[in-house]
Amino acid sequence: MKEKIWLSSPHMGGSEQKYVQEAFDTNWVAPLGPNVNGFEQDLEEYVGENSKVACLASGTSALHLALILVGVSKGDEVLCQSMTFSASANPITYQGAIPVFVDSESTTWNMCPSALEEAIVDRIANGKKPRAIIVVHLYGMPAKMDKIGALSKKYDIALIEDAAEALGSTYKEQKCGTFGDFGVLSFNGNKIITTSGGGALVCKNEEDKQKAIFLATQARDNAPHYQHSHIGYNYRMSNVVAGIGRGQMEVLDKHIGFRRANNQFYQEVFKDIEGVTVLTEPTSKYFSNHWLSAIVIEESKTGFSREELRLALEKQNIESRPLWKPMHLQPVFKECKYYGTNVSEKLFEDGLCLPSGSNLTDEDRTRIKEVISNMLK
Ligand SMILES: *Cc1c(COP(=O)(O)O)cnc(C)c1O
Repeated sequence: MKEKIWLSSPHMGGSEQKYVQEAFDTNWVAPLGPNVNGFEQDLEEYVGENSKVACLASGTSALHLALILVGVSKGDEVLCQSMTFSASANPITYQGAIPVFVDSESTTWNMCPSALEEAIVDRIANGKKPRAIIVVHLYGMPAKMDKIGALSKKYDIALIEDAAEALGSTYKEQKCGTFGDFGVLSFNGNKIITTSGGGALVCKNEEDKQKAIFLATQARDNAPHYQHSHIGYNYRMSNVVAGIGRGQMEVLDKHIGFRRANNQFYQEVFKDIEGVTVLTEPTSKYFSNHWLSAIVIEESKTGFSREELRLALEKQNIESRPLWKPMHLQPVFKECKYYGTNVSEKLFEDGLCLPSGSNLTDEDRTRIKEVISNMLK
């Protein structure tokens, strides 16, 4: 069997171990220290817009804190993009709040602004104004942020941006994660950069960042003994893990270049094949990190389904994966309301994510291309 080609695997740059070694040498083996501060500073400089960043244990914990900080509590409704990873929606339920799911549009595959407005108007008519909107930039592709931002303002509803897959992506030259009241980043094992596990909350100001850190470190009041007036969490990032993050920041833009080259490769491979669409930026306003390259297959035109392609790749030990299964189709959320016209359902049926790691080799690409060419015969 040939070596496995992964969808997206960790890709170290070289200096990660130096920062980790420093943590050991100075005995900062704790959920605070110079690497945590350094990684936060690197991220603040990178995303810009005067953002303040708090490093946390995961993207999921960042989303949870964002919901708390915008005031989501028991019984509130939160509008959430349906087509996403479950981690976008789960924290809504941690707060005892109720997810209301919104469909995607077909150009970026992210939250559809008109379905969003329909949902807002209908929820208000039902006597319940949603407390927050969670928009996601799937696979690195920026959502339609002008329109979504405008709706958040028009109806005065907090906007949380799940940029877990979109570090380095921009919309109108502004980094994803800096548009909402809060932005969420993830450094899990298969993301654009990884710290083995970790995340960050992008805040608009220092006060919000300090509130996030307070909640993430068990909400200790200022006293010599342990005194608590709020429920806290153990959500802070470790200084060892943050060392990996500092090393990864040194190669982030280079790795985005590799991922974008993968996307070019797939565009080239599928260029003349009727019935296959590669997810690409609709206009020059969008810049995707192309964390994952994904396609949609119209079986009536190609003569093969996405499942047939997936199995053919699997046979050659090449990993690919259907797109995210929409949340409103998940057993755990089946009682939740959904607004849309089934764009996300269709994407889920026909879509496939292809190997997209920044460490793919020419040989890997040749193997992938061969499987695709054989499908077409
Ligand atoms: C990975 C991911 C998360 C969760 O991040 P973790 O760091 O794994 O907790 C949230 N939302 C989306 C869209 C993701 O892809």
